[in-house]
Amino acid sequence: MRVGIPHLGNLYIPLKTLFRRLNVDYVVPPLNSRRTLSLGAKYSPEGLCIPFKLTMGNLIEAAELGADTLLMPGGYGICRLGYYVRIQEQVLRDLGHPATIVELGVSERKFLGFLEMVKKLSNNAPWTKIFAAFRFGLAKLNAIDRVERAVQKVRAVERDKGTANRLYARSLDALDEADDYRTLKKVEADYLAQLDAVPRNGRQPLIVGITGEFYVLLEPFSNLDLESELGKLGVEVHRTTFISEWTKFSLFFGFLGKSKKERIHQAAMPYLKRDIGGDGWESIGEKVLYARERYDGIIHLAPFTCMPEIVAQNIMPATREEIPVLTLLCDEQMGKPGMLTRLEAFVDLLERRRQKRDNKNNSGQAQSK
Ligand code: SF4
Repeated sequence: MRVGIPHLGNLYIPLKTLFRRLNVDYVVPPLNSRRTLSLGAKYSPEGLCIPFKLTMGNLIEAAELGADTLLMPGGYGICRLGYYVRIQEQVLRDLGHPATIVELGVSERKFLGFLEMVKKLSNNAPWTKIFAAFRFGLAKLNAIDRVERAVQKVRAVERDKGTANRLYARSLDALDEADDYRTLKKVEADYLAQLDAVPRNGRQPLIVGITGEFYVLLEPFSNLDLESELGKLGVEVHRTTFISEWTKFSLFFGFLGKSKKERIHQAAMPYLKRDIGGDGWESIGEKVLYARERYDGIIHLAPFTCMPEIVAQNIMPATREEIPVLTLLCDEQMGKPGMLTRLEAFVDLLERRRQKRDNKNNSGQAQSK
């Protein structure tokens, strides 16, 4: 048996660790590329969302590398995610790949379901070994996300553009290679220190919150590296979802992460009272929370044709909490020049807005003296 799994940001790094430690034969498909997207788009039914197309491309590329057991997240819900696996299985069969897709039903069985699946893949490895491998994979995932959070801050204010991205790429390789807790800790601390020491340009960055559908939030290829582009424009981003948090939420919901989710749903309540599938409910709640926390603006990422995010997009302008929102629809037709033009215009608007607010505050202070 050879295992393959589609990409979602940096998730492949801890998964490699987990499989390596449990002697599971696995392949990591090539990182998302134009080829992945063309393959996915070519073999997807018309109108499907970009997460389907990219994961379809990943599965085909993993099958080409000999993977015969493909892992795909699935689950219940109101959106199309629920039937991804059935269609993808059919496409692979039509293309002549004899692979089986194992659906990761993390929504229903959570932590237990995941561990049971790992036990099967590892040919019945002892539970102690599985727990130890899982724990180390999770530690790696947390370290990756802590470094990424630091990168999001430094990109916006670095004097020499591209420094944080270079350090980030090197840190991912080093974290990937770390094979024990001591090395992992050391690598993380080393890169955090290097990021801290990056020379700054002394500007006060705009702060933009990023919300939307979880795949396009977490997979930079699907959003044309939006965060990096915003960093070049001097914007610090705050993304609502990280893979480590999502993993905790998906696997341990009930005693970890629940209060954060409840807070977001509570914030959305005046405008939408129930789950509409995908992350639509959360997008609305996060808009409300970002506005309360005085961010400069929000970028809402939505896969083209994604119904939950279309609903969220239409509700957002009607909320009492006012904050500029730019919705970007992600699909294979999205081009970088078009996206950059929209980002530049949005950042320009946010800068003027901030300037206006600062002028108002200054004149208010002068009058009260
Ligand atoms: S939330 Fe939207 S983009 Fe994501 S799987 Fe569902 S329909 Fe597709």
